[in-house]
Amino acid sequence: MEELQNLTGEDIRERLNRHGLKATPQRVLVYEAMCRLGHASADSVYRHLGGPGSPLTIATVYNVLESMTEAGLLALRPSFRGKMFFDVNADSHFHIYRKDTGTVSDLRDEKLLEAVGEGIRAILPDGLVLDRVEIQLVCHDPNHER
Ligand SMILES: [Zn+2]
Repeated sequence: MEELQNLTGEDIRERLNRHGLKATPQRVLVYEAMCRLGHASADSVYRHLGGPGSPLTIATVYNVLESMTEAGLLALRPSFRGKMFFDVNADSHFHIYRKDTGTVSDLRDEKLLEAVGEGIRAILPDGLVLDRVEIQLVCHDPNHER
């Protein structure tokens, strides 16, 4: 997997264009922030950009994230605590939510993901088609100081 944190401005503009989005300065800023954060709510992206000192309003940040999600550049995921977060990796993968740190990270295993999908398809009620599998594992490190 390529290192998203090392993308150049040109890479980002190219990526936006490939997803049918014009590389506006707002989109470049928000996508850069998402590459650094990986998984983030609109609030976290806004804070990352400087909060009240940010060149973008929270509403703009949210709209830009939404348009990138609609274009398939980002994915919107449900979180353990019921809040939604944006994911810079729009493909299917498992997520580890750490109760002790509140962080989310990716866990990849194509074979397991495929096996889960197959298992679910076998028991899915008639008339339903499986679009994707979203699995979040809730974990903690028993040695982590709270
Ligand atoms: Zn992810």
